[in-house]
Amino acid sequence: MSKALDYAHRAATAWIDGLDERPVAARATHENLAAVFDGPLPEMGSRSEDVIAWLTRHANDGMVGSSGGRFFAWVIGGCLEAALAADWMVATWDQNAALHACSPAASVIENVAGAWIKDLLDLPREASFAFTTGCQLAHSTCLAAARHALLKRAEWDVENEGLFCAPAMTILASEERHGSIDRAVRYLGLGRRAIRLLATDAAGRIAPSTLEQALSRQSGPAILVLNAADLNIGVCDSFTELIPMAQAAGLWVHVDGAFGLFARASGAHRHHLSGVELADSWATDGHKWLNIPFDCGIAIVKDQEAHRAAMTMSASYIAAQPSARDQIDWNPEWSRRARGVPVYAALKELGRQGVEALIDRCCSHCKALVDGIGALAGAQVLAPATLNQGLVRFNRRGDTSERNDAFTDEIIQKINATGEAFFSGTTWRGRRAMRVSVVNWRTTERDIARAIAAARVVLAQSHDASVV
Ligand SMILES: *Cc1c(COP(=O)(O)O)cnc(C)c1O
Repeated sequence: MSKALDYAHRAATAWIDGLDERPVAARATHENLAAVFDGPLPEMGSRSEDVIAWLTRHANDGMVGSSGGRFFAWVIGGCLEAALAADWMVATWDQNAALHACSPAASVIENVAGAWIKDLLDLPREASFAFTTGCQLAHSTCLAAARHALLKRAEWDVENEGLFCAPAMTILASEERHGSIDRAVRYLGLGRRAIRLLATDAAGRIAPSTLEQALSRQSGPAILVLNAADLNIGVCDSFTELIPMAQAAGLWVHVDGAFGLFARASGAHRHHLSGVELADSWATDGHKWLNIPFDCGIAIVKDQEAHRAAMTMSASYIAAQPSARDQIDWNPEWSRRARGVPVYAALKELGRQGVEALIDRCCSHCKALVDGIGALAGAQVLAPATLNQGLVRFNRRGDTSERNDAFTDEIIQKINATGEAFFSGTTWRGRRAMRVSVVNWRTTERDIARAIAAARVVLAQSHDASVV
């Protein structure tokens, strides 16, 4: 039995068992960590178990407790136990999941995991998919398929001719889009200036009249990117209205559903995403709401031909063995880990009902957290909980908006310093706010109560009678 593996197993179990007790924020500073880890490249090696012992002993304090239930910053997600253990096995098997020939089991399991995801999210069953490193690369994959299809229609072979001299393309996107859209557009050589921002209405959605106006000024190949859901306030665009309008004008519609797409698995929440199935491509994450370990994104494309043409290495668009999936035909990577296997494990652990319960639980915890903190003296709900996201702000009576921006950041920092909970800040409609994001299967009512109690103590200490 390998001592290193044995040590890692024990350290992993201790880490998980300690999540409830440990402060959520990292304890070690950058300087502490640099002092421990920095140093010259070792001339001599060490025993494998000593390396693991040393790493886990010194790294833990510099880790953030984002895999635990009291972490509400950004949109991070935890890991389900079957997914985590399957991920260990993926590393252990060490398959190159690029070709069926390199790993028949990885190919078949990923194929089934992709079908299960389309079923769970109720997206077209004939769509193709790829398990990428994250939603960022899922965007790149989907938009590469869009680029292929739109330019082919304009009689331009982008895979062979490249983009110099190609017809210009436009990307219409919400002003509230995630920055990964801009990066995908850059990576694909379309350039950020190709993005035309669409204003959102009071609810945070693109109004049909806004899209109509943009379409009337639009000529040439174009993509529309919609949100499912907005990263700050969890709002989804009005797919039923917007998608047919855009498609009638010849646009490819891509949906950023990094976390929000999983609300399709919930009977109580799927109405937010009505019509999303009409789009041409969807990018989402396994490592956020599905609680797969990092790194796992998912690209889904309705036009299989376009997807394959944009990614494949083979000149032929017909698989030698149609039932055997060569991941390299669909993925931007060459060598890659079998990251669809933890997805398969998670879906087998939870089942459809378990995913629905996970989604519903996170949404109700988010509402309790936003309402609970929002009700404290000095707090204000800026955006009530929608799905699993909400925004809270902190104010001192009589202070200017700028000073309350700083006060909001100060309160976030002080809550994080208690170690009881961890939140991140954002700027929303020109004002600072605290994001409340619940995406971890481990979060319990007790975690929510601890977070609200921590906010209460910090607010009580941070002001006097002057709080609104
Ligand atoms: C996290 C996120 C992304 C980027 O996803 P990665 O998996 O980090 O690449 C894109 N869009 C939204 C809305 C997100 O929340």
